Amino acid sequence: MDTLAWMDVALQKAEESLKAGEVPVGCLFIYNNEIIATGNNTVNETCNATRHAEINCIDQVLQFCKEKCVEYETVFHNLDVIVTVEPCIMCMSALLQLQVHSIVYGCANDRFGGCVSVLEVPKFYDQKVVIQGNVKSEEAMRLLKDFYKGVNPNAPESKIKRRKETLLTKNK
Ligand SMILES: [Zn+2]
Repeated sequence: MDTLAWMDVALQKAEESLKAGEVPVGCLFIYNNEIIATGNNTVNETCNATRHAEINCIDQVLQFCKEKCVEYETVFHNLDVIVTVEPCIMCMSALLQLQVHSIVYGCANDRFGGCVSVLEVPKFYDQKVVIQGNVKSEEAMRLLKDFYKGVNPNAPESKIKRRKETLLTKNK
């Protein structure tokens, strides 16, 4: 499969998130041309603000390595990350610590983006990671807009309104 096809799968994951009342971000970790982890945000479900899609995928990879009895370094160093939204600063730092091979993302994350939008996290690391953004970004952004229009039953009303206003300002 190529990058665009992988991104379609990630977008489906994001759509599932939207239906579950989570911020619609979908993520895949590809190793040897196979999906070994898929993740959504589970922040609302777990009441844990660090449970981003990428972090959930990292946990799955560690489980995969344990089951297959492979060194996790080998897997992470050859891992391609496909995610519908630019990873935030926290996730970007985690992915760089683990020295993944590449990161492909959909739309920019103007509020928390750790590739370029808010902070260029790769500048703080010696190792190089291949980064490609703006892949099917319109679809990814549409899902975020749907979410911030207020379909999340778990978000307090004022928060939805505030986020919506931020988004609207950003889009001007
Ligand atoms: Zn994140």
